[in-house]
Amino acid sequence: MDDDTTDVVSFTSSQLNDSPTVRAELRGQLQRLKLVEANVQAFSASIEKLHAALGSTVMDASNVGALLSSSEQSQFDFQNVFVQMSDFAENLQQQLTQSLEPLTEYKASIAAAARAARSFDEESEALDSVHHRYLSLSRDSPMETRATAHSDLCDKAAGVALSLFDAKAALRDGCAAQRVVPQRALCEVLVAQLAYHQSCTRLLSSIMPQVSAVMTSTDATTAALAEARQADVAQRAAMPRPQVREGTTLAEGWLYKGSFNLTSDGAGAGLKEQLKPWNKRWFILCDNGKLYYYKSPEDGRQAKVPIDMNLFSTVTADHGPLEFELRAGKRTLRLKAVEQTDKQRWMAALQSYLDAHQAERQAATLANQKRFQPVGTGIRDLDQRAQMHQRTEHEGFLYRQDADLMRRWRKWWCVVSDGEMVCTLFESLRVSDLSMVSKGRPDRGSREHASSSPFETLAETIDPVPSKASSSVTLSLATVSVREARQLNVPYVFEVISPQHTVALQAQSSEELALWMEVIQNATASSLGCVMRTSSSASSGDNPIFAKVRLAGGNGQCADCGAPNPSWASINLGAIVCLACAGVHRQMGVHISKCRSLELDVKEWSEPLIMMMTALGNTTVNAVWQPALVEVPLAGADATAAQREAHLRKKYESRAYLARLPSGEELRPPAYALHLAALRDDVRMVATCLAHRLDVDAVAPTTALGEWTEAMADEHVGRMAVHVAAAAGSTLALELLLQNLSTSAAGIDARDVLGKSAMMVAVEKGQANCVQQLLTRGANISHADHQRQTPMTAAAERGLHAISEAMLQYKLAQDEKLLRQSLDLG
Ligand SMILES: [Zn+2]
Repeated sequence: MDDDTTDVVSFTSSQLNDSPTVRAELRGQLQRLKLVEANVQAFSASIEKLHAALGSTVMDASNVGALLSSSEQSQFDFQNVFVQMSDFAENLQQQLTQSLEPLTEYKASIAAAARAARSFDEESEALDSVHHRYLSLSRDSPMETRATAHSDLCDKAAGVALSLFDAKAALRDGCAAQRVVPQRALCEVLVAQLAYHQSCTRLLSSIMPQVSAVMTSTDATTAALAEARQADVAQRAAMPRPQVREGTTLAEGWLYKGSFNLTSDGAGAGLKEQLKPWNKRWFILCDNGKLYYYKSPEDGRQAKVPIDMNLFSTVTADHGPLEFELRAGKRTLRLKAVEQTDKQRWMAALQSYLDAHQAERQAATLANQKRFQPVGTGIRDLDQRAQMHQRTEHEGFLYRQDADLMRRWRKWWCVVSDGEMVCTLFESLRVSDLSMVSKGRPDRGSREHASSSPFETLAETIDPVPSKASSSVTLSLATVSVREARQLNVPYVFEVISPQHTVALQAQSSEELALWMEVIQNATASSLGCVMRTSSSASSGDNPIFAKVRLAGGNGQCADCGAPNPSWASINLGAIVCLACAGVHRQMGVHISKCRSLELDVKEWSEPLIMMMTALGNTTVNAVWQPALVEVPLAGADATAAQREAHLRKKYESRAYLARLPSGEELRPPAYALHLAALRDDVRMVATCLAHRLDVDAVAPTTALGEWTEAMADEHVGRMAVHVAAAAGSTLALELLLQNLSTSAAGIDARDVLGKSAMMVAVEKGQANCVQQLLTRGANISHADHQRQTPMTAAAERGLHAISEAMLQYKLAQDEKLLRQSLDLG
């Protein structure tokens, strides 16, 4: 029995080969591995850091692209270089990740070895306790019990031997790998780094010549810029300084500066003055004849355009207690003193200057007149003229007169191209105004197709040029004519006359004037060709104006040459004509014929105009203008331009085909016929009278005459045809008369003997339609008659609410326009 026990114990210790030496060795191995594990951990972390750093140091190629696109494009492909460099970096990142993989595996095997060591310790402790139990069995224990305990002990010993073996093996593996894995990983990192740096080096070396070239060129540019800047400095130093105020001060002090304005006799001028704010300025009157004004006395050294005292003739104090004004012909400059004594002091100073410098003032006036004398076009180079003839495009500066009461000439940048003239207010092209950059070219679409209906609301009809207050105007040149404006007292002015409005533009020389006119005429001619092509392809069926006007007799053919499907209208003659004939109509001038497109000039086509055109028609118009057509050598649709022009000039200018007496004398309607036609709304008779050159401004007969009865004479005493039509509510006749006002000296606001305008008469008679028509044509609603009544007050007094409302709307629209302009003017 004792032997047995000894056997078992010796079995366990010898078979296990477990000794403090072995355990110490294993513990040392495990300790080393733990250290390795910690170092691997730290190394991995640093690789992770490098990985992340690579990601953030490599420039995103799209940023390079963005930088390039914001500067001028370079010859050198920067973006590609940066794309490649970031590719290299990505490669490196990938390889770093790969090099970490074995290290991660190694960490796992170290952990496994540690587990095996721990498990051996546990097994060993368990064996100890089994062994202890076995040894503590009493000697007299039953044989079976001792046998069982012995067998347990053997089993446990076998398990411990196994786990010891495992632990030894794992630790040996770990220690063996320790010599290999970290080194391998470090090598791979180095190799990856080398590959990365080599790729970068190769790439950068290969492009370095180009990079040097770019650097040289940027250096050269920088140097050139510096040189230019230096030259600028020199040039600026050499440039003449703005003129500093000269002369001796005669008076100075604070004054309020008002508007420089027409003498206020109309109601509109009053409104204008209300809108214009008073600006407090430091005024200085000098003996050199200049009246300077500044925002503050300290401003005095800066150059400002002074007021030329020599232009003025008198100083008057008409208005408020502090106000006074300087008068120059029809214009006045309004000023306001801060207090009463100031006003007297200033008026005395200004008056004494004017008194003392009469000679200078006369000279200035003379010089002014000379400057504004019209200058002839002069002889131009014929070759240049031939070249010009083909030009349809041109751009440059022109001065344009504002439509408001100030009539200020402002500088516009005008571009003629593609059959359009785009004028942009030069003031709006400020370099620092970045909002213009994003907006780009002014929007023209919004104006052209704002309304699909030809019947506009009142406000739109009143202001056919909504862009007046804005900074850009687009004129379609297809429907304009151009002429030199010799009636104005400033030189080099031409007028572009479009259906909507007339724009006066001033060139800077007679050559320029001729060029602009030539170019615009050419553009008109060539865009008419375009219009013809587009309109022949477009279906006219969906055009409501076309459809309505086509209803009238004879409107299927051109009134002049018989060409089918004419699309132009002469709105003062009432005829529908083809494109080719419309061209001749335009050449004859608006006093003969005003041409509008049925398709293009949608705004022009008010309801009354369409009705009037429909009431007339080509058959009726030709019955007036060429009743004896059989004998006329009519120019047909295929006539040459010369034949066509000759025919039309004979028809409308010479009026050669009008009805005649057998004696050859013109068969003129009686003098009262126009008034009678206006009264009866007989639009055909109105057309006949106008064709026979009856005076539209003639006053109705004061006594019975032919069909003009005593009652008519009494009712319409002292009235012209427009008054009669307005009073009778003859909208068709009124429309035709209004369209022919170009032959009227008195115009739309002509007064009858009672001082009443057609508008006033229409209001008094409650003819709302006529009021509307007259408003549309821009009749004045503030003209007072001899009883000091205006159409506005008359409408209110009579309780004509619709009419009052319409006028109010009109006035509001006008006020708003003025307000906008005055804000514009600063
Ligand atoms: Zn024709």
